[in-house]
Amino acid sequence: SGGLEGIRAVVTGGSRGIGRACAIAMATAGATVVIIYQGSEQAATAAVDEMRSISSGHRALRADVSAESEVVAAMTAASRHLGGLDVVVNCAGILEERPLLETDAAAFDRIISVNLRGAFLVGREAVRHMMTGSEGGQIINIGSDLADLGRARNSAYCASKAGIAALTRCWAREFGPEIRVNTVAPGPIATDMLSTETMSEESLAEETRTPLGRIGEPREVADFVVFLAGPGGSFTTGQTLGVNGGSTM
Ligand code: NDP
Repeated sequence: SGGLEGIRAVVTGGSRGIGRACAIAMATAGATVVIIYQGSEQAATAAVDEMRSISSGHRALRADVSAESEVVAAMTAASRHLGGLDVVVNCAGILEERPLLETDAAAFDRIISVNLRGAFLVGREAVRHMMTGSEGGQIINIGSDLADLGRARNSAYCASKAGIAALTRCWAREFGPEIRVNTVAPGPIATDMLSTETMSEESLAEETRTPLGRIGEPREVADFVVFLAGPGGSFTTGQTLGVNGGSTM
């Protein structure tokens, strides 16, 4: 048994990268999963196909996590489809490296809207559905090691991820015994995000300077999320848990 039998889960950013790995690992562990994606319809369909080769009931829904009405509609549809909601993984996110003096308010807002407002909206709707009908649940917010480390030219991103850790602590207190809330903060992970399209060569070079001396695989974050979502996480709430090759030491 994989530890998540009967669990009804939503994973945002489930079309690609870490979110996709989380969705597939959770389905492998026995969960039924709805992924939320924005632009990558083909990738979302492929992820659902892969999950359906494991078990039935999985599906994909399109929503921009920064748009309130879209999140409300998608979370309602997901909860209805699943017959309730036990675990939500807030993984949708964007990174745009930019020197501070070249960061206009629109660029700042774009990152905060998807990463922080998105986590807020999805988390709020998750709580709403977890508190009605089922006996509570769990929220796993995907943060970043950079929230603690800081990084030149990435202040909006780092601020969004520090904000996520704060949402986590507040919600863990507010929903105490019913809902466990944690941040999983990855270090460098091999996804589309870790590329010269979003990051400078200088930042990319920094990524392997960890005690483990390598970049991680999405699967390594996903396995940790499965552990936390399952019985192994039963006494853990309000924490920021690093899966980062030791980057924050
Ligand atoms: P990817 O770029 O590979 O995937 C990003 C995912 O987020 C996609 O599924 C994308 O969906 C989705 N997404 C983006 N914007 C929106 C939106 N507005 N609404 C809904 N979905 C959206 O990134 P990663 O897998 O690397 O990152 C996943 C999370 O992990 C992010 O929060 C990131 O900040 C965090 N992280 C990543 C690290 C890394 O090294 N890779 C390190 C630390 C943290 P679609 O393509 O369908 O639009």
